[in-house]
Amino acid sequence: MDAEITIIGAGVVGLAIAARVSGLTGNVFLLEKHPTFGQETSSRNSEVIHAGIYYPKGSLKAKLCVEGKELLYEFCIKNEIPFKKCGKLIVATSEEEIGVIKDIMRTALDNGVKLELLERDEIMVLEPEIFALKALFSRTTGIVDSHSLMKRYETNTLNNGGQIVYGSEVTGLKKIQNGYEVTLSDADKKTYNFTTRIVINSAGLTSDKISEMAGMRDENLRIMFCKGEYFRLNPPKNRLINRLVYPVPLHNLEGIGIHVTVDMAGGVKLGPDVTYLGENNYDYKVTPTKHEAFFRSAKKFLPFLEYDDIVPDMAGIRPKIQKPGEPVRDFYINEEAEKGFPGFINLIGIESPGLTSSLSIANYVRKLIRI
Ligand SMILES: Cc1cc2nc3c(=O)[nH]c(=O)nc-3n(C[C@H](O)[C@H](O)[C@H](O)COP(=O)(O)OP(=O)(O)OC[C@H]3O[C@@H](n4cnc5c(N)ncnc54)[C@H](O)[C@@H]3O)c2cc1C
Repeated sequence: MDAEITIIGAGVVGLAIAARVSGLTGNVFLLEKHPTFGQETSSRNSEVIHAGIYYPKGSLKAKLCVEGKELLYEFCIKNEIPFKKCGKLIVATSEEEIGVIKDIMRTALDNGVKLELLERDEIMVLEPEIFALKALFSRTTGIVDSHSLMKRYETNTLNNGGQIVYGSEVTGLKKIQNGYEVTLSDADKKTYNFTTRIVINSAGLTSDKISEMAGMRDENLRIMFCKGEYFRLNPPKNRLINRLVYPVPLHNLEGIGIHVTVDMAGGVKLGPDVTYLGENNYDYKVTPTKHEAFFRSAKKFLPFLEYDDIVPDMAGIRPKIQKPGEPVRDFYINEEAEKGFPGFINLIGIESPGLTSSLSIANYVRKLIRI
């Protein structure tokens, strides 16, 4: 075999896996179609280190998020990656929502996440400018500079002797004896073939296509492109908010409601919302006509907000396997020997909390590799 392990996709998850497995064996390759890392979902998100509050008990999302956030905080401290454990408030703005936040508290506790129920006066101490009847306070939620994080995973991969090949798109995968033949196409559309014992499919929005390319077609694992748009809060009002503030989430977790996120530079964003796009639709435009809807949603808990305080910012696309209206789906991470593809590890539907869980996902994948 030309390679021992081949990882497809240099987003935050593929990079974390590459950094984790490159020390185990020689000949580890990370392939990425763009000229550098993190050009898709990994650089178009809220950069929140999630606590693990909402995910169903026993799910991979719950387990890997809770493990992943601890690993990530330790990693950031050790590697001097900018982060802030700023905490998050989930605010109830009506009597009905007070009931819901109590349910959220129980789900979080099932996942081992402790939340504090705050009364109005306690909320005012933390965030004097917001409106909430009651709120849950999550102390372990934070934010991270995801670009610095990915850069560190890249450096660790290279230091371990792993090889990263940018500008190389995987266009073919064929099962052969004891491994796989990979076809690559470079920027000039020249194609190359090589063989590898193990394939790790971490191709984000096209991970279903990669799996299909190898011969595994599964309607149940079809990726739905699900867009999330953001508006930005103009200065000086961005200084009125110090931490993450979320409304009560939608009941099937298609998204967790238009919320307020802060970033490492002190910027404040509203979003993301939830819009299912057609298949393969890389539409990153922010829709100016959504201004009204964003304003109205946020105004409920940001009473100081005026219509012109927000402007369109950016959008990201979630690689969802949950179809519109369906109950929440878990991450799909599996070694596909049972489907007849030993040594082929699929990661499909790695939406939020994929950034938070990048290190725990990498550990999980490590255990699926037989070396
Ligand atoms: C709006 C939004 C907000 C989010 N907020 C958060 C948050 O606050 N906290 C959190 O924990 N998570 C969040 N997430 C989720 C998080 O961003 C993702 O889980 C994470 O970025 C997924 O990383 P990835 O490496 O799996 O995928 P990607 O970043 O999509 O990387 C996949 C890579 O594979 C490459 N690729 C694809 N096909 C091929 C091919 N054929 N050949 C070669 N390369 C290929 C792509 O170019 C891409 O670089 C959010 C997501 C969205 C959309």
